[in-house]
Amino acid sequence: MSPLRVLFVSTEFAPLLKVGGLADVAAALPQALVELGVDVRVLLPRIRGMPTGRALLRCPDGTGLSQMETDSGLALWLLDTPAFRRRTGIYVDQDGRPYDDDAECFGELCRCATTIAADDCGLGWRPDIVHCNEWQTALTPLLSMLARAPAASVLTIHNLAHQGLFPLETANTLGLPDWVLQPAAAEFWGQLSFLKAGLVFADRLTTVSPRYAAEILTPAFGAGLDGVLRGRVGALTGILNGLDESLWNPCTDPLLEHRFSEQHPERKREAKRDLLRTLSWPDEGASLDAPIAAVIARLTSQKGIDLVLDALPDLLACGLRLVVLGSGDSILEQGWSEAMRRYPDRVAVQLRFDETLAHRIYAGSDMFLMPSRFEPCGLAQMSAMRYGAVPVVNPVGGLADTVVDADPARLANGSATGFWMPTADAHGLLQACERATAMYGDIPGWQRLVRQAMSCRFPWRRSAEHYLEVYRAAIEARASHAARTDLPSALLMAAGSA
Ligand code: ADP
Repeated sequence: MSPLRVLFVSTEFAPLLKVGGLADVAAALPQALVELGVDVRVLLPRIRGMPTGRALLRCPDGTGLSQMETDSGLALWLLDTPAFRRRTGIYVDQDGRPYDDDAECFGELCRCATTIAADDCGLGWRPDIVHCNEWQTALTPLLSMLARAPAASVLTIHNLAHQGLFPLETANTLGLPDWVLQPAAAEFWGQLSFLKAGLVFADRLTTVSPRYAAEILTPAFGAGLDGVLRGRVGALTGILNGLDESLWNPCTDPLLEHRFSEQHPERKREAKRDLLRTLSWPDEGASLDAPIAAVIARLTSQKGIDLVLDALPDLLACGLRLVVLGSGDSILEQGWSEAMRRYPDRVAVQLRFDETLAHRIYAGSDMFLMPSRFEPCGLAQMSAMRYGAVPVVNPVGGLADTVVDADPARLANGSATGFWMPTADAHGLLQACERATAMYGDIPGWQRLVRQAMSCRFPWRRSAEHYLEVYRAAIEARASHAARTDLPSALLMAAGSA
């Protein structure tokens, strides 16, 4: 039997094109699928500065498709268009400004995926599944349906807050038929929504944790799309992301000066000393003994970074020092710069993206704060656990699915791995940190907790097996058109005659 063929479409891929967690997923999941015998190609846009691969296709309008392989042999197909070539960052330019041709740019990515899905470009390789990720790729199921491409489609929501909204006229520019602009299809409060088009037309939907899959069906977490999602609840699955052990393993991590394992968590002390030196803080005695809490994140309201700032004086008063690595919202950046000026011995802030420093902070910190208001999955808390930085989290989405609160029962049965905030505000964060610092004082108890956190594994293989089940369901749905039975008949007729 020939292997299942999957075209995985993404706008990020670690480390080539990384902004956030999507890049890690796009690098790890296709590789895990290959290891399960799936034939995968990853379709990515090629922006300025990225390598050029071997040319596969070249069109007169300057568009081309080239191929390169990762070190482990995974095939990447890079879409090269004049518009992507102008971009220095995938979503924003070097000054953090968004681009004004997102619809056209990402529309071309969706069109390219569709052309491949329909095997219309002579590549001689046609996928059984087109696996789209985020709004930037979410027009593909609709375009594939219009092109009568036989491939089934799966859309993964990594963050429902980003929806790809554009003026209705954009549909015309993109060559979409008028019927698409109805509320049962891709219209969303007077705009064209790429994401909604994907939610309505993909054969199967997934999101990146079971808890988030349930949360987005509610108005509190549904970002206005909970009604659409409730209409497709039978097609929606939550699959937890994995953590790539080849990148995130404190025993083998080449970015660390001192390595350690859960068998010898006390060796983490050397990594803490390294971090203190990096931060120019004293690396002996009381300074080495006192707890360090870290934040590594995009500085946005989603991540609850403002709650950490609000609680800061109290967090310092309970004995914590804070290390923050991140960039983003300028008000939050200013707030953290100000905090570092005010408390230079207690607060260290680096407002940039720095992979090496991130690894060293996970390794050298005692606690990791993640008071996210919502969290589709979150990779940072998994990395923190693996490196023995005990997470303190707001238990939503993937945080609730991955971190087990250190309540007395779970401490006693050895399943505890972190601390849950009792309420999603600065006071809740403080209360959870107070519990954590109190426990930190009990050295054997703390070491046990660190060892338990470090022992957690999130294998990509397990996630990839779940995706295979979803792919099979998508193929069945496509074959029986079951995915469409929830669409109004007028829409089906319009789609059928388009
Ligand atoms: P999101 O995808 O919402 O940004 P995740 O927790 O899923 O959040 O993934 C974020 C990833 O990016 C993690 O691997 C984290 O270590 C990394 N990261 C975030 N900010 C930085 C930074 N400033 N420098 C280095 N790595 C970062």
